[in-house]
Amino acid sequence: MSALDQLPVAVIGAGPVGLAAAAHLRERGLPCTVLEAGDTAGAAVRQWGHVRVFSPWRYNIDPAARRLLDDAGWVAPDLDALPTGAELVADYLRPLAELPQLKPHLRYGARVAAISRLGYDRLRTAGREQAPFLIRLTTGEEIQARAVIDASGTWGTPNVLGASGLPARGEKDAAAFLEHALPDVLGADRDRFAGRHTLVVGAGHSAANTLLSLADLAAQVPGTEVTWAIRSPSPARTYGGGDADALPARGALGSRLRDHVGAGRIRLLTGFSIHALSPVDGRVAVVVRHADGTDEQVVVDRIVAATGFRPDHSIAAELRLDLDPVMGATRALAPLIDPNEHSCGTVPPHGVDELAHPESGYYAVGMKSYGRAPTFLMATGYEQVRSVVAALAGDWTAARDVQLDLPETGVCNSDPADSTGTDSCCGPTPAAPPAAKGLATGISGGLLSTPLNLISLDAPASGQTGGCCAG
Ligand SMILES: Cc1cc2nc3c(=O)[nH]c(=O)nc-3n(C[C@H](O)[C@H](O)[C@H](O)COP(=O)(O)OP(=O)(O)OC[C@H]3O[C@@H](n4cnc5c(N)ncnc54)[C@H](O)[C@@H]3O)c2cc1C
Repeated sequence: MSALDQLPVAVIGAGPVGLAAAAHLRERGLPCTVLEAGDTAGAAVRQWGHVRVFSPWRYNIDPAARRLLDDAGWVAPDLDALPTGAELVADYLRPLAELPQLKPHLRYGARVAAISRLGYDRLRTAGREQAPFLIRLTTGEEIQARAVIDASGTWGTPNVLGASGLPARGEKDAAAFLEHALPDVLGADRDRFAGRHTLVVGAGHSAANTLLSLADLAAQVPGTEVTWAIRSPSPARTYGGGDADALPARGALGSRLRDHVGAGRIRLLTGFSIHALSPVDGRVAVVVRHADGTDEQVVVDRIVAATGFRPDHSIAAELRLDLDPVMGATRALAPLIDPNEHSCGTVPPHGVDELAHPESGYYAVGMKSYGRAPTFLMATGYEQVRSVVAALAGDWTAARDVQLDLPETGVCNSDPADSTGTDSCCGPTPAAPPAAKGLATGISGGLLSTPLNLISLDAPASGQTGGCCAG
């Protein structure tokens, strides 16, 4: 055994996927250290603890974690029930983290600031693979590891409100009026919304959850107003598959939202691209720029930014990563999950091979592995870490035998004939990826296929032509 092999595997993050990695490492007899920035297991999940998830318990428990828990006499929850985030922590993640096999290896308040290889900057190659990983915490403490499983999620890096992916003008100055996704509208955060006008920005499940809570609050507290702004011309994506959704809880969410909008309890603004924000008399003015270049202003009390999340790869900036330029996932995984292409949250089984970077021994897993794709599921992450840990243990047969046990899709378009083989003016479109298993989003066509009302320019820049194959 080399000196490198005697070091622990470092797992960054004690969320569902980081803890699952620790359970698999334990089963394989590989030493590990779990570094968690928060003060408890599931620190990110706890922040959306009031939200009920849409996948039942049976898909939310990692098999290796379950084996360890069962051996300790754990009483499993009803596998068909839908837990809240708080229940996920209290009934599963915390008991798992407290197991004597894992507890001594978990460190809380340990935020990773940067990862490199001991004695090697990114440029240096010879002998690199034998060099231990060097992990620096924000306290300055340094830890060495034989491999790094980065399960740090994306909760800490939400997308901005500005339509072009950059902060809207004045977004930083208006921070006091902005809410992170999924505030606890009916609980701890109620006072910030009661009797006030809130603008919710975004078209995903987070936006839908917040809108439904605000509609409930509006029914209880007079003067509570709710406006919902989306960039696309239609809310169909958020309404989802209704009764046909593979996950009934998620279908019901969309149907309830549609009812509130139809009844005027939630005011819907489509084609809404935020250009600027500015505080005005204790409120915030939101300037929207329309397709014809004209501006419109909406003044509200609070803005909930439910615009999704993006991965923070800066901690791994000194490592050799090969990231897809669109998704910020590995190049092998990105085409399987790109919402520009896929109508579903489906994904073929994937593991160590799809997650590998040129930096051998570093794997981003879990929510972070999906980059900007919004369709990650815990069950997918559990299979990722099973495969990665098997590879770290040298069991490549198990590592490559990837499986995914997810519900069959309900309403997405899975007919390859609909998406392949057509010739565009630029030649044949690429073949669709192999059949995928996963969860339907309830949308036909790519998630991002709806055209946006883009702001027109008076004249094309010099050298630009209008042909679809123009280079
Ligand atoms: C509201 C909501 C509902 C969801 N519902 C479902 C569902 O129904 N079914 C489903 O399968 N999935 C669902 N998901 C998606 C996903 O499965 C969860 O977000 C899940 O928590 C992802 O697990 P993770 O371990 O990858 O990341 P996280 O749970 O985000 O855990 C990451 C951990 O890393 C820690 N961390 C971050 N940065 C650092 C650092 N630099 N150093 C050390 N530690 C760090 C964080 O504190 C956190 O504890 C949902 C997500 C959200 C937000």
